[in-house]
Amino acid sequence: MPDHLGRHAVVIGGSIAGMTAARVLADYFGQVTVLERDLVELQPVVHKSVPQGNHLHALMLGGQQVLSALYPDFTDRLVKLGAVRFRFGIEAAFFFPAGKAYTPSGSVRSPRDLGVDGFSQSRGLLEHCVRQCSMEVANIKFEFGAAAESMIYENGQVGGVRFNRGGVADSIAADLVVDAGGRGSRAPRWLREMGFAEPEETVIGCDFAYTSAKFRKPPSYDGVERVMLFGGPPPKYTSGAGIGEIENDSWMVSVAGRFGDYPPSDEEGFMAFAKALPTHKFYNLIKDAERISPITHHRFPTSVLRHYERLPAFPERFVVLGDAISSFNPVYGQGMSSAAKQAAALQGLLAERAAGAHGDGLKRLAAAFFPRAAEVVASPWILAAGADFAYPQTTGERPPSMDEGGRYFAALDTLVVEDVNVHRLVTEVFQLARPLADLMSDPLRTRVLARMAERAEK
Ligand SMILES: Cc1cc2nc3c(=O)[nH]c(=O)nc-3n(C[C@H](O)[C@H](O)[C@H](O)COP(=O)(O)OP(=O)(O)OC[C@H]3O[C@@H](n4cnc5c(N)ncnc54)[C@H](O)[C@@H]3O)c2cc1C
Repeated sequence: MPDHLGRHAVVIGGSIAGMTAARVLADYFGQVTVLERDLVELQPVVHKSVPQGNHLHALMLGGQQVLSALYPDFTDRLVKLGAVRFRFGIEAAFFFPAGKAYTPSGSVRSPRDLGVDGFSQSRGLLEHCVRQCSMEVANIKFEFGAAAESMIYENGQVGGVRFNRGGVADSIAADLVVDAGGRGSRAPRWLREMGFAEPEETVIGCDFAYTSAKFRKPPSYDGVERVMLFGGPPPKYTSGAGIGEIENDSWMVSVAGRFGDYPPSDEEGFMAFAKALPTHKFYNLIKDAERISPITHHRFPTSVLRHYERLPAFPERFVVLGDAISSFNPVYGQGMSSAAKQAAALQGLLAERAAGAHGDGLKRLAAAFFPRAAEVVASPWILAAGADFAYPQTTGERPPSMDEGGRYFAALDTLVVEDVNVHRLVTEVFQLARPLADLMSDPLRTRVLARMAERAEK
């Protein structure tokens, strides 16, 4: 058994962050137990605590890469379950009042093959696939219907979890506890109970709302696009929509709006909102399509970043990851990839600890992990905040140098139009498959700065 770092690890939360963390821990602990409070059905459906699964849920390239590295043949399995493969630059497009485009800014107007495939599926199917893969790992065990309630804590060290299953209190001992309990994670409360400070939070008021439903893909649909986003440039347009082709010849359809321009959740209101969008394309696509699921609504008032990396002290044998650290405005589709990448960062750290393990390889693990998680989260947070603050109604802490960054990106976008390699690179960065720093490095940086100078002279 792979018990280089300990005999038993416990993960709280059996969603994307929890399952990827469990997979990573399984290489270094004899046994991994996942405590998931929901009674999860072992099929592609959404469970109670993940209501966001009823909305459009894009898996970015960054997340896809991590899942493919963690689970053998991951994308093949996804496709076998019904996921739809699509080609970036051709089969994913934006529709604006000015017409069809292949960049979020609308700058690239003709399709071009970026040489990269994405996969579109419902959140339920994706999670089911990750769960199936995780359950096949011999030393991972899922305990469903088990809600973690408090930490077992003694002498500065977490030693396990007290949980409740069907009204019955129980406990489980662990050499390491990982909290992947999502945005509503109780880690801040548990820290307080153990006598530690809670993390500071950065909060951005993005005030966003989704209304979604599944539709049967109309048999008459003959477009090449599998993933379509509809909207108009900020700050003028506060509403938009998305269609993702998913399993079973269906479309996951979401309409969305900000700052009071919220989509209604009744059929008539949904259609009226669709009709009033900046482009008629969306309404024309769905107006005669058959709706095959109830309509659901989700409000997302704030993005939240918890700064665990700034805490001066933290209990031993305990870490936190996933949405419990960073919960992003969902419109940018970053959360699952950020969670998976944080699990990959934990994997890197555990590998180092196992290789150099003298005595306690878990000592001050959190202090080493949180700065790495913060680094993972920084790119998506800056990208999302940059887009959110294009609306003056957005509240909260603006990332530094936003105006300069805006000019840089505007100049970069002109290079995207001219150079397919720059288009691919920018797509990979926005898809979290490469760090944001790659857009600021030479030789690209010199080209962008030259373009900025040319534009300033005009
Ligand atoms: C409307 C909406 C749309 C989104 N769209 C996208 C998208 O397109 N692409 C994308 O990548 N991301 C999207 N996200 C974000 C994405 O859903 C999350 O980032 C992702 O689920 C990873 O989160 P997680 O695993 O950390 O937490 P969650 O998915 O929230 O899961 C937390 C899990 O922990 C369990 N849990 C919580 N507390 C306890 C406890 N005490 N004991 C036991 N179990 C517990 C819960 O039951 C749950 O299963 C969207 C979010 C929203 C709200």
